[in-house]
Parts: sequence; structure tokens; C-alpha cells
Amino acid sequence: MGKKVYPNDSCPCGSGKKYKNCCKGKLDDVNFNNPLKLMENYKKIRKDSKIKQCLHPDKENCSEKIIGAHSIQNNKILKTISSNGMVFMPCPKPDKPFAPMTSYGRKEATVFTGFCGYHDKTLFQPIEDRDFQKTEEQIFLFTYRSFALEYHKKQELQKMEQIIFSNKPSLVNMSDEEDPFSGNKLAIKDFAEDKKIFDKAILESDYSVLTSIIWEFDKAVKFACTGFEALQYDLKNIKVQDLLDFSKRAQHVYVCVFPEKEKTYCIFSWFKKNDKMFSTYFEQLNSLEEQQKRNFINNLLPMISENLVVNPEAWDKLTQSQKDEFGSYIWGMETIAQTMGVKVDRTKAPSYDLFEL
Ligand SMILES: [Zn+2]
Ligand SMILES: [Zn+2]
Repeated sequence: MGKKVYPNDSCPCGSGKKYKNCCKGKLDDVNFNNPLKLMENYKKIRKDSKIKQCLHPDKENCSEKIIGAHSIQNNKILKTISSNGMVFMPCPKPDKPFAPMTSYGRKEATVFTGFCGYHDKTLFQPIEDRDFQKTEEQIFLFTYRSFALEYHKKQELQKMEQIIFSNKPSLVNMSDEEDPFSGNKLAIKDFAEDKKIFDKAILESDYSVLTSIIWEFDKAVKFACTGFEALQYDLKNIKVQDLLDFSKRAQHVYVCVFPEKEKTYCIFSWFKKNDKMFSTYFEQLNSLEEQQKRNFINNLLPMISENLVVNPEAWDKLTQSQKDEFGSYIWGMETIAQTMGVKVDRTKAPSYDLFEL
């Protein structure tokens, strides 16, 4: 739980009651601690930690129904990437928690319950119904949708933690180092700050809050991705921000890559207020050669996102060792390398090339 919980603190189970009137002194659920029930418990927790909400700031006009909103457009993007209505994603389903790639139907792929039907339809219309023309509003909407998914997922992870705590109140004694959720707590605070800026921009229809770089490739790729990164190092391995300085909120770079018609677009964006922090990075990204850009995306995507869809046949063209290298980035290889003092050069080609699938 990280910090000590005091009797008058709100209970870590998320009930809204004071700790002394809720889980204090409660015993752990015996079933929950039974290793034989691990899978069963895991599936139930995953299910129970789903949140249905509308993140749109204009709450008055929310329609009643929270829908499954696609974080990557279904009709435009998923349709072109799928085969027989299916795509692959590096997000395991609860019954196979360790699968590197999982098959998803288009209807369920990249879906999250973060918007009501009305707001999902009206807000995202400019990127849903129109071609990408790099307008300020379209760039904002792609970026905002990446943000919304990440924020929503972090909130669900928080709910998962609360459910685990309510089943196992003895966790109150856990230290920060032992707490697998301590990073998520900070991340939620960071994203809550981003949300304020996005909300204001949406309410005022002022989409000028972002600085962005758009790369355009003359080829429609068979994958798409949204994600973000709390960028620590620029391309020359100079520190951009210190994520261990908890007095400052982490600042994010949002990323979207998607094919449209005969092209592929990659959008990097961050808040204008961070232009100074990211200015060198901005210049470095802008000065890359075509092949370096591809390499960069190939390296970056598995590092920063699980919200990645790939055409199944395209993925199966990769050899096992290429798949393994891709997987190693998903499982944090770069972070481990950095901890050991080795810097991963993101402009160097990995063994796989997602652009050639
Ligand atoms: Zn409680
Ligand atoms: Zn709404």
C-alpha cells in the first residue's frame, strides 16, 4: 500500500468509508489466498475491475449508455488491418495470461468503456468520417483518444488494486518497494493533470494546446498502434526528465501510428507547455532519414504500448526469433538495459520490420 494507512484515512479498498470503519482488523479471505484458485480469482478480478464511465468533460449531455468505444477506429483502420474480421494484439485474455499475441475480433479489439454513445460519436466524428488531413482538430482527437484509453486503463488497474485489498486487508503492511501498484498511483496523478488540459481544450474547442510531429510514409502498413511514453532520454541519450523526482509530474509524449488509404501516418504529440523540455527531441525526430524513422517506430511501438493491432497473416510471416525480439521489448528489455547502463539505440534496425509485413 506504500504509505502507512491511518485510521481516519479513506479505506484502500475504495469503499469511500474511513479505514477504521471498514477493512481495519478484517482477516484475509481464505479463498483468495488459495494458490489453486489463482486463475479463477484472477479472471474474476479482471472482470470486476472494469469501469464504465464517460471521460468527456461535458457531463450534462452524456447519453445513458456507456458503450464499448474503439481506441483505434473500427470502420476505417481495423477493417483494413483485419483478416476475416480478426486482428492480433499483444494483450492476453484472462484465460491465457501469458500468450504473446492474442486473436481479437474487430468488434472487441482496442475497445474500452470510457465514453458514452453520444460523446464517442460526436467528439470523434472529424477523424471517424473524414480522411486525415493533419488538421489541428484531427491531431488533437487522435492524441486525446490515446490519452483516454491510457487513463481509463490506469483507473481500472487502480480498481483492481482496491479489489485485491478488500480480499486481502493484510496488504496494509506492505512497503512501497513491495507494492506492485505504486507506479500506477503516480501515473494516475500524472494523467489527471493531462486530463485537465484536454478537458479545457474540448470544452472551449481550442485544439491549439499540442505540439506535434507527423511522419508520412508512402505505404499502407498492416498494423496500427496508440500509446504514450513518459520520455526519459532523447535520441542522444541525454536525460529529458527525471521520473524519480516525485516532486514533478511526469510529462508525456503521445504516439499514434495508422494506415489510411495508400499511406501510413505517425503522430507524436505533447502539450505546448512542454516545448522547452522536448525541443531537442523534436529536432532529432525531425532530422531522421526515412529508414531511421521506420526503425524508430519498429523499436518504439512494442516498448510503449499494448494497444497495437497487427494483421494475423502479416504477424505470422515473422520468424520465431523475430517474434521473440519484438516480445522482449514488450517485456521491458529497454528498461532493463537502461538500468544496466546500456542505451538502446532506437534508430537502429531490430531484426523484424513491421513495415515490410
Ligand atoms: Zn475497506
Ligand atoms: Zn458522455
